[in-house]
Amino acid sequence: MRIKKAVFSGSSVKVGGKPSLRLPEFAFIGRSNVGKSSLINMLTGNGSLAKTSQTPGKTQLVNHFLINDKWYLVDLPGYGYARLPDKDRARLRHIIWDYINNSEELVMLFVLVDSRHDMQEVDLRFISELGEKGIPFGIIFTKGDKQGITVLEAQVAKNKSRLLQDWEELPPCFVSSSANGMGKEDILNYIGSVLQTL
Ligand code: GDP
Repeated sequence: MRIKKAVFSGSSVKVGGKPSLRLPEFAFIGRSNVGKSSLINMLTGNGSLAKTSQTPGKTQLVNHFLINDKWYLVDLPGYGYARLPDKDRARLRHIIWDYINNSEELVMLFVLVDSRHDMQEVDLRFISELGEKGIPFGIIFTKGDKQGITVLEAQVAKNKSRLLQDWEELPPCFVSSSANGMGKEDILNYIGSVLQTL
């Protein structure tokens, strides 16, 4: 699939406030600084659609982008901000789960993980909550250009093994780089193939 058109369609803090047009939604989430905004800009071919490198905690809204007039790419607030006060973290959690639990159009969620690191407790906890709720998800290992291919592949394999401790099967997994476009075709083709099954 190629993205020919990507238009910001609105921000919300409650699912009732999302754009009124009902179309399939693919959402993106991860810890702050994982490279979510850069990935969204890379996938859509728009250098500034999602703002990059904002102060942690500032991107606290659910943002909808209408893609090719056919589906929404949904940019969710980050999770696991260590430095946020408890009440702010609780508010973000509420915004995230209100969307995930109640958006009838959500098709699947991509959880972003930095390809250089072990998946952290907060990632694993979030993923197991998705499992408990039966929310389909995939994983995108970001910043794939930051290490050589051998080290990258070893770290991704390690994270997949970790996932297989909790899951019988691996979810769809991708490796991406916003710096060199790695993963763009695979991720968009995957979304395209899922859209065709709907
Ligand atoms: P967000 O907080 O998850 O939206 O993360 P950003 O997209 O703002 O990225 C955080 C930092 O990582 C920024 O300095 C980006 O330039 C950098 N970054 C994000 N993705 C990549 C990538 O694929 N490769 C490299 N080399 N740097 C990246």
